[in-house]
Amino acid sequence: MSESSAHDIVTVRDLHIRFNLGREKKTSLFRPAAKKELHAVRGINLNIRQGETFSIVGESGCGKSTVARALAGVYKPSDGEIQFAWQDSAAQGNREQNGTQMIFQDPYASLNPRWRIGRSIAEPLMLAKKIGNSRQARQYCGELLEQVGLSARDLDKFPHEFSGGQRQRISIARALATQPSFLICDEPTSALDVSVQAQVLNLMRKLQREHGLTYFFISHNMAVISHISDRVGVMYLGRIVEQGSVEEIFARPAHPYTRLLIAAIPQFDNPDVIREPIRGEAPSPLAPPPGCAFAPRCPYAKERCHQTMPPTHSLSDHHQIECHFPYEVMAHHDSIPLAQVS
Ligand code: SF4
Repeated sequence: MSESSAHDIVTVRDLHIRFNLGREKKTSLFRPAAKKELHAVRGINLNIRQGETFSIVGESGCGKSTVARALAGVYKPSDGEIQFAWQDSAAQGNREQNGTQMIFQDPYASLNPRWRIGRSIAEPLMLAKKIGNSRQARQYCGELLEQVGLSARDLDKFPHEFSGGQRQRISIARALATQPSFLICDEPTSALDVSVQAQVLNLMRKLQREHGLTYFFISHNMAVISHISDRVGVMYLGRIVEQGSVEEIFARPAHPYTRLLIAAIPQFDNPDVIREPIRGEAPSPLAPPPGCAFAPRCPYAKERCHQTMPPTHSLSDHHQIECHFPYEVMAHHDSIPLAQVS
């Protein structure tokens, strides 16, 4: 779905991630038991540009966390490739742009409860052997805390002395300690209250501007995605089914799944609009259906959808959709306001 360009810092091409789950139960004396495999990511393409937030949105189990962990180097591609711009510059002798850090969903789990905050923030510096003397390290960690809206005096406190939002701020300070250029953000606000979510997202935007950071952000929450993203990939059962700028995705969603996700966003200023969850369940990634994986839930599905994988159509320079009948589906969409979709 994507071509690499001069400003891309991450390029993912035809990425597949499969997990070996052992073997099925043996049903015949004469035949070996079949291999059980989870094909979590089924051939995705994307490029992430310097200084932007590229987000992946989708329901639980769609494969977005697996992609995030593959970008973080936790999982190796089963097929396809992931390229980082700084791998090239490292080969040319420039090792400055070497930073990838991750911010996790649960700030409670990402901070050691027995360590003072200063030690937690300094740990990545020690691992990267970037720490000076202890006075310099303390001053630097205190400055990081101030950048995320806390105080240098908080260095001596323990995680339990902070609220959830403050703990996520500390996790962000910790992630920034080694001055990374690329941050992988795995649902960083989903454990927080709605009011605190907006504060943390605003802080992340501010830090992005100040430090020139690039974010890869994953979430199941379309409202959060609309707040933080520059470009969005919509993921369904291991595939990116629609990809475009945040304006294109939210103003004129093309894929039926994207449209249903947007229509399910609660409208607090219009409580009379009744929102329904998307009907049905995603098929099991252990046995994805042939053809379009969304066909069992798609109101527009025809026979071809159940038999053949849909091709990718470009709707504009940067807006792509995987569907057999994109123009038919979009013409129908245009006749129904988004507020009436459910
Ligand atoms: Fe629906 Fe068919 Fe398009 Fe899939 S390919 S989204 S089933 S119309």
